[in-house]
Amino acid sequence: MKKLKPILFSTSMVESIMNGNKSQTRRICSYQFWSHSAKVDFNINGIHKKIDKDVTSRYQIDDILWIREPCDNWGTIIAPFIYKATELKYSDHSWKPSIHMPFDAARLFLKVTNVRLEKLQEISNEDAIAEGIEPLNMSSTQLIEQGQLYKNYFTKKRFQEGLPPFWSFNSLWTKINGCESWESNPYVFVYEFEVIPTVEGTCFLCGCTNDNCIRCIEKTGKPCSWANAARTICTACREEMKRKTNNPSNQFV
Ligand SMILES: [Zn+2]
Ligand SMILES: [Zn+2]
Repeated sequence: MKKLKPILFSTSMVESIMNGNKSQTRRICSYQFWSHSAKVDFNINGIHKKIDKDVTSRYQIDDILWIREPCDNWGTIIAPFIYKATELKYSDHSWKPSIHMPFDAARLFLKVTNVRLEKLQEISNEDAIAEGIEPLNMSSTQLIEQGQLYKNYFTKKRFQEGLPPFWSFNSLWTKINGCESWESNPYVFVYEFEVIPTVEGTCFLCGCTNDNCIRCIEKTGKPCSWANAARTICTACREEMKRKTNNPSNQFV
């Protein structure tokens, strides 16, 4: 069953999502098992239980996530909101933190395509790249000699040596969550997602437009309006998904 849930991202991760460079995100599982592999039974309080019966992830396959990102009210009809990830030249503007972004400002929507649980440090190079680490510009000679290297998030240096994918992800994680978090190697939910393509003036869920809202009227008895300033999701769909989402089903996240 599809549900609509918010998810927070930093500006640089929103950029990676918009560039098509990010299709995974890792979030710490609040319940940390004693055992070392997610694939076996777990001993929780002395009782052996299968992990998939005991832990529920915050997001599930087919959920639709609306991205909360740093933004601000702009107040004009054409641009009611502006976004830090799009207005990088104004990076010292006092942006509202992601957590305060209202649904009205939602412009980016993701569909969860897979969820799994693994240890943070089990990440492969391929998955580190899917986390949206930034590839460095390298000459063809450098590429042949070193292979593609990625941003070191610890340094602000414009010209840096770069890191292999695993270590670039390590620097990104550590910068956001701290060194201890990396060292403790927690279980994380790995969410794989795709960006939902949207067109202004068409609801991406039911397809209704300003000119054609017949299906919403059939369903709810009244015409819908737009639920977000980007005019990509209608109030009828948002209300329907809100009803489904009202019952948060997890105690472990
Ligand atoms: Zn709709
Ligand atoms: Zn409609």
